[in-house]
Amino acid sequence: MQITIYTRENDVNERLPIVREVYQQRDARIADMTDESVDTFYSCALCQSFAPNHICIITPERSGLCGAYNWLDGKAAFQISPTGPNQPVKKGRVISPEKGQWQDVNEFVYHSSHKTLEIFNAYSIIEHPMTSCGCFECISCVLPSSNGIMIVYRDCVGMTPCGMKFSTLAGMVGGGVQTPGFIGHSKHYIGSKKFIMAEGGAKRIVWMNRDLKEEMEPMLQNIGEKEGIENFISMIADETVAETEEEVLAYITKMNHPALSMPPLF
Ligand code: SF4
Repeated sequence: MQITIYTRENDVNERLPIVREVYQQRDARIADMTDESVDTFYSCALCQSFAPNHICIITPERSGLCGAYNWLDGKAAFQISPTGPNQPVKKGRVISPEKGQWQDVNEFVYHSSHKTLEIFNAYSIIEHPMTSCGCFECISCVLPSSNGIMIVYRDCVGMTPCGMKFSTLAGMVGGGVQTPGFIGHSKHYIGSKKFIMAEGGAKRIVWMNRDLKEEMEPMLQNIGEKEGIENFISMIADETVAETEEEVLAYITKMNHPALSMPPLF
């Protein structure tokens, strides 16, 4: 194997389309797989070097928080290095299909988190959510008055409607601590059918920072079509139309956003 690291912007930009194509091919390979179709997930303990109690559980429908690992990557990494940071995790008895909770996964997480975490729900942002390390691509957090959630990407440096910048949010969410109402996750997970499924799914998204929203446009379009929501993308506020939670509420009310008619989050 040979690795070449490009550092000049022009060299990087020249190769970006190739890289994106490779990642699209990788994502397409796993697109048809579901969490129900396998009996084993994969763990990732790489980030325990700085978040000792955090463990990622990578499922076909929820990639690692950093976006670098999907289920196939976890499987391949285990085959290459059977004693490495990616271990198979049997699901065991299903405790809750809606929240994404399995008995053997709970036990694995309990031991891997050094007995700090007893219950783990893969598909919930509120009830026993997955912990976060620090290298998540995005943070989602509940905006209570809008009955929905906001998502901010790690490159966004501005203020968000929850009153915190990404850096402050990351300090709260990271470190391997379960923080109800907040999750770190990959960009890819936003398009998953299992994205905060316990709370009603992606229909809850009421705010995203603009760059993320633009990048995720095909994914959001797809979500809107599957949910039968016309103009779903334009219903989601960003910093150009709403900087505070009150402004988000005013915007989504004007747009008749579906989150407003969903069951209360609390
Ligand atoms: S964030 Fe990525 S590198 Fe870190 S533990 Fe999770 S999958 Fe592994």
